[in-house]
Parts: sequence; structure tokens; C-alpha cells
Amino acid sequence: MHCFFVVKNSFINHFLYLENINDVVNMKKRTALVNREYCVACGCCLKVCPQNAISVNKGIFAVVDRELCIGCGKCAIECPASVIEFEVIEIAE
Ligand code: SF4
Ligand code: SF4
Repeated sequence: MHCFFVVKNSFINHFLYLENINDVVNMKKRTALVNREYCVACGCCLKVCPQNAISVNKGIFAVVDRELCIGCGKCAIECPASVIEFEVIEIAE
């Protein structure tokens, strides 16, 4: 039971931003975003993604599935071209 609360609190602190703690409709999360112009399609990012949220589109550039992405940052650390950034998006109701 204790571990559940630790994990839950950690998840909220790192990935969810509540505009109003009582208003779950306004939840947001951090997701990765690839700059397609400078991506070299090496595939390093998709090898480390724990969510399998990245694919390399036609061997030209990487694409992140925002629904699967949890914003952990592992892909950005691994990217040799430093073309992965993050943005906060609203989570659908
Ligand atoms: S931030 Fe994490 S979950 Fe999201 S694409 Fe990168 S490695 Fe995958
Ligand atoms: S690691 Fe960086 S350069 Fe390589 S495919 Fe992923 S986003 Fe593109």
C-alpha cells in the first residue's frame, strides 16, 4: 500500500500538472517532441523508450506517439543530435 502511494505521488509530481487539484479535467502531461528537420533517423531513441512510443517514419525522422509517451526523458538523453524537446499538453477527458 505504501509503495502505491509513493509511485502515485512521484507520477503526479513529474508527469502531471494540475491547474486545480479538484479539477481533473484540466490535467496536463509532459511529452517528447522530435525536431524532424534535424533528426538523423539513427534510431537510438526508440531503443531506450520504455513505452515503445517512438517510430522512425520512412527512415527519415523519428515520431513520438504522444498518447504513449510518459515524458521520462530517456530518449532525449540518448539522442546524439539533441533534437528531442519536451512540451506540456492537455490530457483528453
Ligand atoms: S520521453 Fe520517455 S516515454 Fe516519451 S518518447 Fe521519450 S523515452 Fe519514450
Ligand atoms: S536519437 Fe535523435 S537523431 Fe536519432 S532517431 Fe531519435 S530523434 Fe532522431
